[in-house]
Amino acid sequence: MSIDEQLWHRRAVMQAMAAFMLVAPVTIDLHARTTSDPFALGVASGDPGKDGFVLWTRLLSADATPLAAHAVAVRYEIATDEHFRHIVKAGQGLARPERAHAVHVEISGLSPGRPYWYRFHALGATSPVGRAVTVPRTADRLRMALTSCQHWEQARFGAYRDLVAAQPDLILQVGDYIYEQSYVGQPKIRDFGAPEPKSLADYRQRHALYKTDPDLQAAHRAAPWIVTWDDHEVLNDYANLANRDALPPELFAPRRAAAYRAYFEHMPIRPSLWLERSAPLLYRAVDWADLVSLSVLDTRQYRTAPPCAMPHMARNVPIRDCAEAGAPDRTIMGAAQEAWLAGRLESERRPWTLIAQQVFFAPLWLDAARTSSFSDQWDGYAANRNRVLAGLARSAVRNAVVLSGDVHSFWLNDLHDASNKKVGTEIVTSALAAASPPPGRFGDIRANNPHVRFSDVDHAGYVLIDITPSALIADFRAIGDRTQMKSPMSSVAQFTVEAD
Ligand code: FE
Ligand code: CA
Repeated sequence: MSIDEQLWHRRAVMQAMAAFMLVAPVTIDLHARTTSDPFALGVASGDPGKDGFVLWTRLLSADATPLAAHAVAVRYEIATDEHFRHIVKAGQGLARPERAHAVHVEISGLSPGRPYWYRFHALGATSPVGRAVTVPRTADRLRMALTSCQHWEQARFGAYRDLVAAQPDLILQVGDYIYEQSYVGQPKIRDFGAPEPKSLADYRQRHALYKTDPDLQAAHRAAPWIVTWDDHEVLNDYANLANRDALPPELFAPRRAAAYRAYFEHMPIRPSLWLERSAPLLYRAVDWADLVSLSVLDTRQYRTAPPCAMPHMARNVPIRDCAEAGAPDRTIMGAAQEAWLAGRLESERRPWTLIAQQVFFAPLWLDAARTSSFSDQWDGYAANRNRVLAGLARSAVRNAVVLSGDVHSFWLNDLHDASNKKVGTEIVTSALAAASPPPGRFGDIRANNPHVRFSDVDHAGYVLIDITPSALIADFRAIGDRTQMKSPMSSVAQFTVEAD
């Protein structure tokens, strides 16, 4: 670890500790604490199956001597109780310098349908305790939280307090976990302390900064996460290798690869999906017993460049009379992912079919004539959307729900296939922590989009989703003051989607 990195790490930990203690960072000397706590970035679990899950941590040390060049042994323990009286599994992982001393352990051999508690030991220290769950054999209920969009500079992550108190089985994060850019003219309550990331070291630093947030850490400790990225994990609005700077692919590809690698290093994702692969594989299935089929998509890595734009350019702009947006050869998923999803939809048998993905799925017309829409959403890839809708219209799919984020506002939309038959519902979560969209951004929403059943463009928060065989209840939870760590949350709307 370089001197710069050491200094940065020390600063990040001090900031986090200072926020926690609600005192100014300059007044504390935390050197003794930071050198003795390699677990300052917290712990996490993710992608649960019936007999296990993946565990994550990343070792950090302010004095860093043993971490700089050597791999460090990290011991893990899994217990059936939070006090670790009954340890049922223990083993060792390796924190390697070439992976920024991140540790990913894939756990198997556990019992289905129960909570487990886990912790790590390394360098003479013990980590905080996290709670994970395994998927049950059969299930008649699931509680999950849907979140997206957390801008470090624009808001505190206090909404996670309400989320943790709700005790979800799963936390689903559909992108913009980090932001790469500062926004001039937006409220700024804290600072990235670094310019826009471009290299692997930069992206690692940005991810580590996020992981110092105490509310984010608490949410990772509370339940397993299922994550997928959107654009800001790399660069706003990028589409495969097209980008807002119109850099040619050979120049943008290394930046994207660095961003992807840092993302995986900091997320509780199974290493088999990214280590020693020529390209990372983020789309995957995480099903909940016989109750919920959950397909998690990656609509960034493979998409064709946005329509009606110059070569290599990718910017989310309103497009008008853009015939290219409907061209059948355009894809937001890529052929392999689309075939994979189609195969899953063909063989559906669970009562609920959920598709978690990044961007607004339903049409969102900006004018009454229905000629204008945003290029970065599924509207820019309408033929791909119609093919997914055709899959949802299959008789095997009983209750289809698309889960989305990105637009920093809450929405509930009816989904119709090409023959205008209702085939499902879309739930869009607001930003967990970011500014709201500028007024008027979406035009006259209700007049131009009768399939939009609800929208709230003023609040940040998350969606709490309770699923049983007979109904799905979505509770849109809004934070009172997004600049505060402690702010009351309330429900802005609650919807019940009845099965069949
Ligand atoms: Fe966002
Ligand atoms: Ca986005």
